[in-house]
Amino acid sequence: MTKNIQALRGMSDILPAQVGLWQKLETAIRELTSSYAYQEIRTPIVESTGLFQRSIGEETDIVAKEMYTFADRNQESITLRPEGTAAVVRAGQQHGLLYNQEQRLWYAGPMFRYERPQKGRYRQFHQFGVEFYGVASADADAEVLLMSAQLWKKLGLFEHVSLEVNSIGLAAEREAYKQALIDYLTPLAERLDEDSQRRLQTNVLRILDSKNEQTQALLADAPVLSDFLTEQSQAHFARVCQLLDYAGITYRVNPRLVRGLDYYNHTVFEWVTDQLGAQSAILGGGRYDTLVEQLGGRPTPAVGFAMGVERIVLLLEQHAFGQDTVQSADIYMIALGQNAEQVSFLLAQSLRDALPYARVLQHCGGGAMKKQMKRADRSQAQFAVILGDDEIAQEQVIVKSLRGQSDQVVLAQSALVSYLETHLHENNKG
Ligand code: AMP
Repeated sequence: MTKNIQALRGMSDILPAQVGLWQKLETAIRELTSSYAYQEIRTPIVESTGLFQRSIGEETDIVAKEMYTFADRNQESITLRPEGTAAVVRAGQQHGLLYNQEQRLWYAGPMFRYERPQKGRYRQFHQFGVEFYGVASADADAEVLLMSAQLWKKLGLFEHVSLEVNSIGLAAEREAYKQALIDYLTPLAERLDEDSQRRLQTNVLRILDSKNEQTQALLADAPVLSDFLTEQSQAHFARVCQLLDYAGITYRVNPRLVRGLDYYNHTVFEWVTDQLGAQSAILGGGRYDTLVEQLGGRPTPAVGFAMGVERIVLLLEQHAFGQDTVQSADIYMIALGQNAEQVSFLLAQSLRDALPYARVLQHCGGGAMKKQMKRADRSQAQFAVILGDDEIAQEQVIVKSLRGQSDQVVLAQSALVSYLETHLHENNKG
């Protein structure tokens, strides 16, 4: 027997029974971004490897061990995108969108990271993200933060999520802090967990968000980043917090929040939930004022976030929408005999033209009335539209209601559209 080929580990199929929730989320995203006047941008899912090395940072987990990187046929090193921001900056710059102007952009699509798969963590996952370029002041940070809060409200998830914010200041401030942290931790190195020992040499800030309890205990008396921020940086962060307060968004300042990508400065934030086990982060973002320049452009202030779609779908399943029953059609076209089949195709098309919200399913494969009715029932359609030779001769059609009491009417074919328009359930007219 030949062995069945399976999807790759950590890469999921989204089946018809699940896709309803994805579509609801996608609709909410479209409405949200449109109501904030953000424009969509779509970039390729593969880029030159150097783009991610230069932006995310060589010492980050993503670049050091999680990228899908390979040589193409021309021996060029290319990488499946592990996140969206670097590519948006690359595209913005390549097409002159960022120079001397404001841009409010959003994107959505698959991302790839070679992580250890578990519930809520995959190797192909999807992100929705926004990027706001050209404004350095705290009101821009507040705009994207309020926008993320608004998404939870729209989705009915607001009470299940909470916001953590922090300021990681500017590079120079961070350098001074890093040195202080290294000085503090070096004598304690042997008691740190293995990952943190390595990070002491490579990326000391990431030790702050270690999940190891002993490491966390050792950090209790460590120097605090906020003490290293200049007055100006503190004022920026204070204004962000003030705007959140004014908008009634509660948050916790988490002085250990640093985020896993190198390009951030000033404000960083994360929305978390306690309902997804270990994968508590559902949306992360912050300000990244140096990235555009780092990738060859002019200095351009920027702030944005990225949200994990799968994790939100899991939350929606648990709370807001539940599972939809799979209903594949509203109207099921039944035809008895070849003549009826021909006419039925045309009639179905006239229904689709006139009632674009209705899902019209044409029976294919012939068969007796009983078989076709069974299929109609299974499709969960509200109405079967039945055509046989008699109906064709008289230019009529039978409409049978399949839900509630199953009455049926005989109509002139010309009256079919208006009959169904009146009788289809209101919620199908979305
Ligand atoms: P990041 O780009 O790492 O800041 O991640 C932003 C968001 O993407 C996170 O808050 C998660 O919701 C989601 N995310 C990141 N990595 C994964 C993954 N491997 N599988 C599923 N979702 C992920």
